[in-house]
Amino acid sequence: MARNDSNAQTAVAPQQHDLLQLADSCVKCGLCLPHCPTFDLARVEAESPRGRVGLIQGLAADRLRPGDALTRHLEQCLSCGNCESVCPANVRFGELMDKGRAELRYKGSQAPTLERALLRFAGSRRLQRLAGQISGLARLGQRLLPASLRRLAALLPDQAPARLAGRYRTTGSRGHVALFTGCLGPLLEPRALADSIAVLNAAGFDVEVPKDQACCGALALHAGYPDEARRLMARNIRAFSGTGADAVIFTASGCGATLREYGRLNGKPAGADFAGKAQDICHFLAGTGWRPPRASSPDRVAVHLPCTMKNAVGQHDATLQLLAGVADVRSLPGNSRCCGAAGASVVSHPAVADTLRAGKLTEIADSGATEVVTSNVGCARHLQAGLNQSGIEYRVSHPVSVLARVLRKGSPGVPDL
Ligand code: SF4
Ligand code: SF4
Repeated sequence: MARNDSNAQTAVAPQQHDLLQLADSCVKCGLCLPHCPTFDLARVEAESPRGRVGLIQGLAADRLRPGDALTRHLEQCLSCGNCESVCPANVRFGELMDKGRAELRYKGSQAPTLERALLRFAGSRRLQRLAGQISGLARLGQRLLPASLRRLAALLPDQAPARLAGRYRTTGSRGHVALFTGCLGPLLEPRALADSIAVLNAAGFDVEVPKDQACCGALALHAGYPDEARRLMARNIRAFSGTGADAVIFTASGCGATLREYGRLNGKPAGADFAGKAQDICHFLAGTGWRPPRASSPDRVAVHLPCTMKNAVGQHDATLQLLAGVADVRSLPGNSRCCGAAGASVVSHPAVADTLRAGKLTEIADSGATEVVTSNVGCARHLQAGLNQSGIEYRVSHPVSVLARVLRKGSPGVPDL
């Protein structure tokens, strides 16, 4: 049984048994509650992991129907993974929430409007090209836009979108890697992508940017549209397997968390092969033994740790290791908490996103650093938009951009793409 919604997203038949089995692994101990940012804000059970497990159980067993309150509590989960990382019963909460939202779609409740707009963008190269063409205008004309679009425009950086494709070769190559750019990366983080190629080349690796790659599928998966997510995954697996690269490098931990799950999600050997090759750029660089030159006057950088890096990818140590050689590094004290960006939540649940961000902005202002670095594009743009609005002068960068700057200082021949 399948149902089509008016936005051409396909809601698939729910696997109720699977969903109930996942939910039934929760023993309702409540140990996750103090780690949940939405419970911390609302202080109601339904905004906690345990409460959401109960709601999903009721929904899957047809004891509860989608309605304003139930839907809101499930949509407001940030999928930050904090609960899963502390759960003594090993409840696979992320998978449970994705499937719970798919159940909502199946029972006729669509994702929030702005989230569906983002999904359309993520799935369409034509819309991505169009956004690239009008992004400069949108940024300049922000004040003229309606509030919802103004919020999107505020996330845009002060740079033209990246146009990267093909193979970027280096002399005396040690190997060949492929770069995952994602659907939003070229638009929201062009500097990090260009710097990734420069640093990988300097470390001795040819870099290929497959032209036919697509969104990682995370937005669709977390919104409850697994068929759309699988379509995007299949496209990526095809595009990257054609490169013959030794590693698939990502710069955004939000995408990386899903890329590393392709084995489970795709269910085929090609998916597992792709997932096994997917690595965060700093983790890959550190693993090759490459080290940046020491900086003569190190910048003071504050590190924001994305939830997806902390709770899913788990490759953060390499970032700190590489940065420690070139900068005076300090971690933000609230790094155990989500900044509120959380994929599409940054636009679909602005009040939660901005409340969670407020504490981060104070920490940044108090950090004594001159720059914030973070390995996830969503966090970076959400924090930068908040700093810009507050009039706090800080640059938010990807760690690889700090490495590229130091490289260029020591060796002016390092290209700036
Ligand atoms: S999700 Fe895990 S930590 Fe939270 S109540 Fe259930 S069993 Fe306990
Ligand atoms: S994923 Fe995060 S926001 Fe959602 S229930 Fe778990 S801790 Fe709370």
